[in-house]
Amino acid sequence: MTTREGRSFERKSALGYRQIESRHFYQWSDQLLASDSRTELILGESAQIVSTEQTLPVVQIGNKVTQADWCVDATGKISLAESQSSEPLVWQSFIGRRIVCRNHRWSPQTFDWMDFRTPQNEETRFAYVLPYSPQDALVELTSFSLHPPSHQELNRSLNDFILARGWSVAQILDEESGCLPMTTRPLSPNQPRVLRAGVAGGAARPSTGYAFSRTAQQTGAIAKIIAQGAPASQAHFSNSWLDRVFLRALAQSPGEFSTIFAQLFQGTQPGQIERFLSNRGTLGDVMAVVAALPKLRFMAAALPLRSHQADSSRSPWMPVPTASGWTRT
Ligand SMILES: Cc1cc2nc3c(=O)[nH]c(=O)nc-3n(C[C@H](O)[C@H](O)[C@H](O)COP(=O)(O)OP(=O)(O)OC[C@H]3O[C@@H](n4cnc5c(N)ncnc54)[C@H](O)[C@@H]3O)c2cc1C
Repeated sequence: MTTREGRSFERKSALGYRQIESRHFYQWSDQLLASDSRTELILGESAQIVSTEQTLPVVQIGNKVTQADWCVDATGKISLAESQSSEPLVWQSFIGRRIVCRNHRWSPQTFDWMDFRTPQNEETRFAYVLPYSPQDALVELTSFSLHPPSHQELNRSLNDFILARGWSVAQILDEESGCLPMTTRPLSPNQPRVLRAGVAGGAARPSTGYAFSRTAQQTGAIAKIIAQGAPASQAHFSNSWLDRVFLRALAQSPGEFSTIFAQLFQGTQPGQIERFLSNRGTLGDVMAVVAALPKLRFMAAALPLRSHQADSSRSPWMPVPTASGWTRT
C-alpha cells in the first residue's frame, strides 16, 4: 500500500492471488452443461421475466415464452430499493489497463493493493497495480464515491497516474472497467420463485465489491433451494456489522479514506486486513481492524444513519444504469 505522500507499507502475505480466465471458466461450464441431457444451452438470445403474477414465473427467451417452475436470474440487472435509502450506498468505479512498460520493471511477487498518489476529489481514489511479469502489469484506477465519476474522467485519472509514475507504455494488452454498487440495500425486488444470482442477488460484499467467491457460495445455496423445492425466494447473505459500519463511514466522508486505509495498514499485522477483506477474518483480525480505525468517526457511523439519501419522489424500485457501455474486453 502507498500513501498519498508516497510512503509504502510492504508485507508478506500467506494469501495468494488467484485469477481465473473467463475463457477457461466457459470451457469448463460448457462441457458440464453439454454432458447433462436435462439442460439446453441457448446462446445469443435475450431473456427476460415477463410476469411473476401467476403462481409460476413466465420467462421469454428470444421469441419463446415459457412458464418456469423456478427462474434463476443471473443477468445482473440491478434495481435499488428507495424504501431502504437510509442504508449506505457507495459506487465503486474503475478502469484498468494491462500495460507493457518500456522503462520500468515490476516484481511479480508484489502487488500494490492501493496506491493513493492520485487526486482524491472528495472521493477515495487509488490505483491497484498487479504485475503479471517484470514488464507488464494491470494498473487499475478505482474510485469509491457517492456519485460515480464519468468514464472519461476516470480514464484521465488513470492516464495521469501512469504519467506521474514516469511509466512509458509500449503496448496495451487488455482493458477492463465497471461500476458496482457497494451497499447493504437489497438490489432487486423479491418475486415469487425467482432467485437472483450474482451482484443483483446481493453477492457483492458491501465493503469491497468482491463478488466472485460469494457468488459461488450463493449458487450452491440456490441449487439447494430448488432441489428441496423450498418456498424461500432468495439465498440471502447476512452482512457483518463491521461491514455495515465501514460502509456507513465511507459514505459519510469518502474523501478521508486514503488516511483511514493508511492507519489500517499501519495498525495491523501482515495478513489481518487481507483475511478480513477476503471474508476469512478471525475474531483477532476483526479486533485488530477495529483497534486500528479512528474511534470517533466509526462510533458516529455506528449510530443509525440519518436518511440523507432518501428521495421519496422516486418509485420504490429504481433500475440502476450501471456499467452502461462499460465492458470488460
Ligand atoms: C472489470 C471487473 C472486474 C472485477 N473483478 C473482480 C475481482 O477480481 N474479484 C471479485 O470478486 N469481483 C470482481 N468484480 C465484481 C463481480 O465479481 C463481477 O461484476 C461479476 O461479473 C458479477 O457477476 P454477475 O453474474 O452478477 O453479473 P455479470 O458478470 O454482469 O453477468 C451477467 C450476464 O448476463 C448477461 N445478460 C444481461 N442481460 C441479459 C438478458 N436480458 N438476456 C440474456 N443475458 C443477459 C450479460 O451479457 C452477462 O453475461 C469485477 C467486476 C468487473 C466489472
